[in-house]
Amino acid sequence: MVKNGLVFRKNPLYEKCPSCNAVGLLRKSRARSTKEKIIKILTPYGMYRCKKCGWRGYRTKFILTKQSVKNSIVYIFLIAAVAYIVLQILKRFA
Ligand SMILES: [Zn+2]
Repeated sequence: MVKNGLVFRKNPLYEKCPSCNAVGLLRKSRARSTKEKIIKILTPYGMYRCKKCGWRGYRTKFILTKQSVKNSIVYIFLIAAVAYIVLQILKRFA
């Protein structure tokens, strides 16, 4: 697992199966339809299949952490503050 600040990378292969709760039995599954291929390309979701019960569905490789939500709020606040200061400066020289 790699922590990069904003998101926490996880490996769905070690997750519990949502259907039978077996741990470590999820395997990557090939996208069968165009819709699944599009989802695979455009989203962090991928198709997974349970070896035990045959469950098949989407799992994500990324989860947002509490820390990442905090960081995002700080960044948004900083950007807003900088934008406000720049506007004030521009007003002064206009
Ligand atoms: Zn299962």
